[in-house]
Amino acid sequence: MNKLFKEHLVVAQNASGRNMNVPLYRFVGDKPGPKVYIQSSIHGAEVQGNVVIYQLIQWFKTLPICGEVVLVPNCNPVGTNIKAGEYTLGRFDPVNGTNWNRGYYYDEQFVQEFAQKIDKQESIASIKLRFRQEMKQQLQSRLDATWGLGLAQHLNLKLQQLAFDADYVLDLHNGPVSTRHIYVPEFVKNSAGLFNIPHVIFMPNVFSGALDEAMFCPWWLLTDLVSKQRQMSVDFEVEAFTLEMGSQEVVSFQEGEYDAKSILAYLTAKNCLFESEIKPQNMPRKAVSLQNYKTLFTKQGGIVEYIAKPGDSVKKGDVLARVLNVDNLESATATSEILAPCDLVAILHFPSASVLSGTQLYKCFTEYFDL
Ligand code: ZN
Repeated sequence: MNKLFKEHLVVAQNASGRNMNVPLYRFVGDKPGPKVYIQSSIHGAEVQGNVVIYQLIQWFKTLPICGEVVLVPNCNPVGTNIKAGEYTLGRFDPVNGTNWNRGYYYDEQFVQEFAQKIDKQESIASIKLRFRQEMKQQLQSRLDATWGLGLAQHLNLKLQQLAFDADYVLDLHNGPVSTRHIYVPEFVKNSAGLFNIPHVIFMPNVFSGALDEAMFCPWWLLTDLVSKQRQMSVDFEVEAFTLEMGSQEVVSFQEGEYDAKSILAYLTAKNCLFESEIKPQNMPRKAVSLQNYKTLFTKQGGIVEYIAKPGDSVKKGDVLARVLNVDNLESATATSEILAPCDLVAILHFPSASVLSGTQLYKCFTEYFDL
């Protein structure tokens, strides 16, 4: 049966000089197989992933694994504990404003140079092993940098060292007020239907600092370069995704069971669970390319009722939100409506009803298609 090893990884130190740890649950199966890495709550207010990991741990007590699954819940012990009144300020390091999910490492030139030196006879397995070792050395040399690193970047690189060992990487997030959606790199788009997630965003091979990109960009580029060199398509079988499982600041054990099952369906399809027959659900899935995943900013401030709920399809010209202007309550301009600029699916909206101009009010699928 699976063996469980539990460790604590030091990722930061607080002002009292005490180490701040993240728990690390490593399940090792009897049979060899792929490695899986799953983390949650890099954004401190996005807590539902911890429940999903809890549910996965219950499954792995009896469901045999091939290879290894590493689970890192609550992977940002700083961000989770920063509260302002009733809210968790989980998205940014408040000291310098850095987004906790933008400090991972990727260097395109390093991949280019690595690929140029590959011998024509070298096996895919050997290239994969060497690439991993050299990438991890890159990460370590950054962590050892003479001039140091910011808190968020240090945390990110410590986690990336763990993640880069894995073949399948899942970063569990939540939106503000949100329906389920998933970011899928285009080069593994066939995997989009393996999760029970009805909204899919296809990502280009572009790095903006997030964990999923830091995982898939190097492997995607290496795949392209080696395929070109050998004039045949090679596959390193590495995939990475960001899963957005509903709203931040909310926990549901029932929804957690659903999302754990969704992840198990994916892992079953990837041969990580040899006795499992869990299959992805048949469901309608809508997809967009990243450039058609649009943000609607408010042009006016006010008090907002969100009419379109996350997951709703809205026709062009229909009402998305109603705004009350408390400076004009006696007049006809007391209320105004924000209309859908085109046919869209509302994916998430701002969590508060009091809104300044220039707020990201909704994020929407436009020009979407059925998968
Ligand atoms: Zn997030």
